[in-house]
Amino acid sequence: MSYKFIALLVFFLAGYSSMAQNDYLNAQAEVNEKIYTGGQNHEVEVYSQVTNNKKPKNVILFIVDGMSLPQMHAALTANKGKLFLENFKHMGFLKTHSADNYITDSAAGGTALSTGTKTYNGAIGVDVNKKKLTTILEEAENKGMATGLVSTSAITHATPASFIAHQESRNMYEEIAADFLKTDIDVFIGGGYKHFTERKDGRNLVEELKEKGYQVEQDMNSIKNIREGKLAGLTAAEHNGRMNERSDMLPAATSTAINILSNNKKGFFLMVEGSQIDWGAHAGSTIYVVEDMLDVDRAIGKALEFASKNKETLVIVTADHETGGMTILKGNYETGMVEGEFTTGGHTGLMVPIMAFGPGAQGFTGIMDNTDVPKNIRKVMQGN
Ligand code: MG
Ligand code: ZN
Repeated sequence: MSYKFIALLVFFLAGYSSMAQNDYLNAQAEVNEKIYTGGQNHEVEVYSQVTNNKKPKNVILFIVDGMSLPQMHAALTANKGKLFLENFKHMGFLKTHSADNYITDSAAGGTALSTGTKTYNGAIGVDVNKKKLTTILEEAENKGMATGLVSTSAITHATPASFIAHQESRNMYEEIAADFLKTDIDVFIGGGYKHFTERKDGRNLVEELKEKGYQVEQDMNSIKNIREGKLAGLTAAEHNGRMNERSDMLPAATSTAINILSNNKKGFFLMVEGSQIDWGAHAGSTIYVVEDMLDVDRAIGKALEFASKNKETLVIVTADHETGGMTILKGNYETGMVEGEFTTGGHTGLMVPIMAFGPGAQGFTGIMDNTDVPKNIRKVMQGN
């Protein structure tokens, strides 16, 4: 075979596999989506943190899918030079490679962040031998802590799934949904209703959740009013829409989850995912990236507001990988205009930031591996 033919074949196969992997993407890049012209911006509060050697009682982990410095800086520019993220004084970087690839996907990235073990791309909560791993959410549950997951994608999608499910492929949405029933998770809010109800095995997991005592709600207005008990908020058949459709779903779901989980005297673990920064970057859309970054920043603001009062809560913000090989070509702090450029339609191997706030924050500085995140959460929760 000639080199040309092999190169063509490799190009075709790479394109095909990334298409198959990203078939959930419905956004299409428009040329004019590369320029965010400004417009929406939010006020930012300054919160003081307690960082002593006391161990945190609660942990809130934000995973901003696809975020590295370019996505952060685009949002910082769009919001006219300020973000809730600036409250974080302890920060570092994570290497994100998976067990079988320099460039991770969200399943292996999520599993590294949830278990501390590197695995193959596509794996959900299992190791390279497809053996079940224990996640920090499951460990928290075993200790009697309350647990929660919030996501703007389907709750069965790779990132949240990595914290609660154990399946050899991220595409096994129905199996992943069934794994939720094997746990005692207190609160989960995200899309994915159809994976609980339209199933090949004929089970109706919404009915089963109700039998287990969950309040099952599909409407954010109902979800926002829930203050206690178990909650399954399934806000979309599959993924939640873009910002113009889903509005303040993520900040509101974050507040709701914190309200409910903080009733537990033994503390809580909550993972919140800003899922669609990744999708905006896959689509080469600066507008999509900025809107979703600002959205997750407001959700982070809700967590910081709680943590600054509560003083026993560690808030961590990080990402699974960078998406788009994004950079910023133009920006204006006065108008909020940002012009982004993307060098790939896929993920990159670029390091991602990690930021921490509150007791235990000192455990999250320097250059680390993504697997160090749950390891260090375990350590600081033991007071080390
Ligand atoms: Mg994700
Ligand atoms: Zn992606």
